[in-house]
Parts: sequence; structure tokens; C-alpha cells
Amino acid sequence: MSEVILKTTNLTKQYGKVKAVDQVSLAIERGEIFGFIGENGAGKTTFMRMVCGLIYPTGGSLELFGVSSAKELAQMRKKMGALIEHPAVYPNMSALQNLEIQRRYLDMDFGKEPKKALEELLELVGLQDAIHKKAGKFSLGMRQRLGIAIALVGNPEFLILDEPTIGLDPIGVMELRELVLKLNKERHITILFSSHNLAEMAQIATCYGFLHKGKLLETITAEEVRKICTEKNMKLESYFVELLLKNR
Ligand code: ATP
Repeated sequence: MSEVILKTTNLTKQYGKVKAVDQVSLAIERGEIFGFIGENGAGKTTFMRMVCGLIYPTGGSLELFGVSSAKELAQMRKKMGALIEHPAVYPNMSALQNLEIQRRYLDMDFGKEPKKALEELLELVGLQDAIHKKAGKFSLGMRQRLGIAIALVGNPEFLILDEPTIGLDPIGVMELRELVLKLNKERHITILFSSHNLAEMAQIATCYGFLHKGKLLETITAEEVRKICTEKNMKLESYFVELLLKNR
């Protein structure tokens, strides 16, 4: 039977009169790559921040790995990794030192060779040539990669990536896509992923959630969207635009 990793019920975040996230109910099952699609300001980051416990909801509830009390959620969040907005890195420290800080913070035991394990992580995200370079000297794309490596230090079962392709060049975008697929297939990590690049998203997502002005318009499997798009001879972008127009 499939296991639900994240379940939200009428999850809401209101800032003054603005409902950044408005009664969103969705479920993400183990093994999925859930693509979160929405225009600027749709509420994707706010939703992710609530799931990570960085901000509190003003309404509704959420369950992670089947639990929902504040204490249990804090425990379960140790099984998660996240890259939300700009990665928080120590600019005066090298990539490796940044990972080491995260390893100590999470109290991760990598056996006798923690350094090797962290170097392998940097290799995995394509930073093998910058292991000892200070993070402050990194390009935007390199920072994104380091942010992903930091999110992976805790060996997460559930990974949240908020627009991870921002700042990456076309090859970087392609490599990130390969990385996401690899993490999902080989490490069995469930992934919640937001991106403005719908063409990229269409190549990796197994399921989509369409968010508009804080409201979830629809969740649909990639297979269903593919079928509809093939029938109507349209791209994912057009499917999303049609959905938006219907909800205007
Ligand atoms: P983008 O794709 O541009 O990153 P998004 O889908 O991630 O957008 P959010 O950043 O979640 O959208 O913002 C959703 C709405 O909530 C926006 O109207 C935003 O202005 C508002 N908002 C977000 N954070 C705050 C805050 N701390 N205080 C007030 N309003 C906020």
C-alpha cells in the first residue's frame, strides 16, 4: 500500500488581508516527484515554508509521515531536507566546511570517514572542483548546488526544492534534472519541487499541483496530463494557461 509522506488539510497562511495559501489540501505519496506550479506570488514558497516548520499556518493542518502533533512533526522534519529561496551558506567557509557544519548540526554519523561522505555529496551535485573554495566566491548556480548538497546531508527521505534551477545555466538545469531523477530513483527520495520552467518540470514530475492566488486549482498525475496534452496536441504550458483562464 502506498504511504502518504505529506498530507495537508485546508492549510492556510494569511498575512493581513492576503491569503498567501488558502485552504490547500493535498497528499504526496512516497516515491513521487511532485511538481508545484504557480505564477509569481501564487503561494508556493509560503506552502513549503509551512511544511518545513519555518512559519506557522494560520489555519488547517499538516501531517508528515503520518503524524501531526508539533512534537512529532519536529521529529519527522529530521527526515526532510529543503532548499527554499536562497540557500543559507557561510561565505567565509569552503563548500566542505559548510557541509561539515550541517553534519554536526544534524548530528549525522557517517562512520569513520565523514569527510569522504561529504566530498561524495559535493561530487553528486557537481561541485567536485570547488570542495575547498569559499562559498562566498561561488556563482549563483554553484550556491544553488551547495544548497542542495546541504539539504542532502541529513540523508532525507523527503526533499523540498523551491525553484532550484534559478541561476543555473542550461547545462546546470539539465544536470539538476538528472540529479533529481537520480535522487528519486536510486535513493528513493520523495520530492516536492517548484519551478517556473514547465518544460523541465514536464520531464521529471510524476504528479502536479497547480496553485493560483493561494488556492490549489488541481492535482493531477503526469500520466493524466500527458494523455490530455497528447489528445489536445498541447504542451504543459498551454494546459496550465487553460486552467488559469478557466479560474479567472
Ligand atoms: P514566487 O514564484 O514569486 O517565488 P510564490 O508562489 O513562492 O512566488 P509566495 O512567496 O509564497 O509565492 O507569496 C505568496 C503571497 O504571500 C504573495 O502575495 C506575497 O506577497 C505574500 N507574502 C509572502 N510572505 C509574506 C510575508 N512575510 N508578509 C506578507 N506577505 C507575504
